[in-house]
Amino acid sequence: MEPYQLFTRPEPAVLVSRPNRFVMYVKDSSGTILKAHCPNPGKLTEFLIPGQPLLIERHESAERRTDCTAVAVLYRGKVIYLYSAQANHIARNLVIPELHPGKTIIGEQQVGSSRFDFLLPGDRPILIEVKSCSLVEHRLGMFPDTATARGSRHVTELGELALTGYQPEVLFIISHEDAEAFMPNPHTDPLFCTTLHRVKPQVQLHAASAAASPEGFVRIVNRDIPIETELPARLAEANCGFYLLILQVTKPVKIPVSRIDSPQLNPGWYIYAGSAKQHLEQRVQRHLRKRKVRHWHIDHLTQEAEVLKVFPVRTFADLECSVSKDIASISDGSIPGFGCSDCSCGSHLHYFYDNPLHNRAVVDVIFAYRHLHFQR
Ligand SMILES: [Zn+2]
Repeated sequence: MEPYQLFTRPEPAVLVSRPNRFVMYVKDSSGTILKAHCPNPGKLTEFLIPGQPLLIERHESAERRTDCTAVAVLYRGKVIYLYSAQANHIARNLVIPELHPGKTIIGEQQVGSSRFDFLLPGDRPILIEVKSCSLVEHRLGMFPDTATARGSRHVTELGELALTGYQPEVLFIISHEDAEAFMPNPHTDPLFCTTLHRVKPQVQLHAASAAASPEGFVRIVNRDIPIETELPARLAEANCGFYLLILQVTKPVKIPVSRIDSPQLNPGWYIYAGSAKQHLEQRVQRHLRKRKVRHWHIDHLTQEAEVLKVFPVRTFADLECSVSKDIASISDGSIPGFGCSDCSCGSHLHYFYDNPLHNRAVVDVIFAYRHLHFQR
């Protein structure tokens, strides 16, 4: 099989910031700041620590609105390519010919009201939808890293097309050679989890892992990564677990709670750990609303501070106090008595001088729970 090359002129750089999904600012090896196109629109939380090593490719045309493209991330010793749209080319060139030897492959087919990535004509035509997955932690790949209504709609339509004579398939291309298992992401997109599990009897699911070399060559590592849909679907339906709120306080905040020794919170960043034995999604939405009756300590804070981000973790295990302790151990201090009236912890609110989303230790804790501990 011909080697498949995603980029040809890579050079090292480091991440400075990502102001929006399509743009990154990077620093090249001479220290110059460049504006880079980001060819992966996902959340990419695990890659967005300032100083993260990258590979960039400069544009040959001066007409582009950016100086270069961020082609890959150097992550835990591996090259993770960022070209999510290339998943289709990788599927077409390296995976589908192996899954369906000798079949003609036609790209971009409109069937019914949707477009699907590939059609393989035959007595029972095969329809293939390709999804690109870059999120792999603790050897477990998850898709999507942010909720996608389009993903669930596509999968529902594929299930319906199975009843009209098509053989529908979903192929996940995982841009990380460490992936040993795959599942739809119960923490970010519960609807996708229940939808994928529901259509599984009619829709064939495949997941393949791809490795990129520093020179840009891509090869398939495993064409047959095991896919788990039952656990994520059960977690999605149970809608229980815990969440971490990331808050920014810009001016001192008074918290009128008598048990708390120092009711004034100083400006800075805070992480709060809370749980919901049911209605996790609704609890998270409640924290994002400004107008509400103040029930809990955290309600006072979410009205005074900005909630920058919420990380729900769906799990059947009782992990709220465990994750709170892990966050406390890497924080710059905790607010005594806050949010822990029902447990024996000293606090569920932890202080950071700097943005915790730019802190590798914090991001590692989040993904340890999302990819490993949640299965307890
Ligand atoms: Zn606790």
